[in-house]
Amino acid sequence: MKEMSSSMPIQHFTHIHPLTKVDGYGWFTCNGCNTYGFGTTYRCVSCDYDLHDHCATCPPTLFSFMHPQHELQRVFRGPEGQQNRRMCDICDESIEGLYYHCEPCGFDIHPLCTRLPQHVRHVPHPAHYLELSHSGASNTCVVCRGRIQSWRYKCGPCRVDVHMECVTSSASRGPATQQICYYIYQGQGQQLSPSMGRRTFAILMTLTVGVVCNLISGGLVG
Ligand SMILES: [Zn+2]
Ligand SMILES: [Zn+2]
Ligand SMILES: [Zn+2]
Ligand SMILES: [Zn+2]
Ligand SMILES: [Zn+2]
Ligand SMILES: [Zn+2]
Repeated sequence: MKEMSSSMPIQHFTHIHPLTKVDGYGWFTCNGCNTYGFGTTYRCVSCDYDLHDHCATCPPTLFSFMHPQHELQRVFRGPEGQQNRRMCDICDESIEGLYYHCEPCGFDIHPLCTRLPQHVRHVPHPAHYLELSHSGASNTCVVCRGRIQSWRYKCGPCRVDVHMECVTSSASRGPATQQICYYIYQGQGQQLSPSMGRRTFAILMTLTVGVVCNLISGGLVG
């Protein structure tokens, strides 16, 4: 089911004109958080301005299990305010534009990264859910054998650590799905302008892979 446009335009504080929700749009770069998007966008056609569904609707403050000590404040910083390069504490990629911040701790996080689930099912480790945590049992990913620097999904009792992007969350994820995800990650992504956000985007794609692959087979690839 595809609707091109729905609901009333919204007025968002990051843009002077009203934005209209468009479903099934395809690839875009979010002008709020400057990372990739696919599918639903809040769009100003005359300015070619897009916002993620999430960036258009995320609240001014929120609590996250990733930083339980304090409430996080939503911040929007234009290019003029970016003398210091900020990195997301969760995905280690740079932050521009819209993000969440904890002032006392200097904690920064992409709006999209606040959507990462606390617990995921990892198919090769069916006994337990893995939990998103800052430190783990080891610094080696059991899937790719690569080094893990900071946040990872882990099973503490079994000493299992997995990169966020290496989690295999869907049992139905066969070779065809992997190919599509590879396509997202390596191919199509490179045609988009920002160099950051790819990691978060890939993680969220992985975790919601069924939805996205349906979108792609219905609209983009084929
Ligand atoms: Zn965004
Ligand atoms: Zn506009
Ligand atoms: Zn991030
Ligand atoms: Zn804090
Ligand atoms: Zn890995
Ligand atoms: Zn376990």
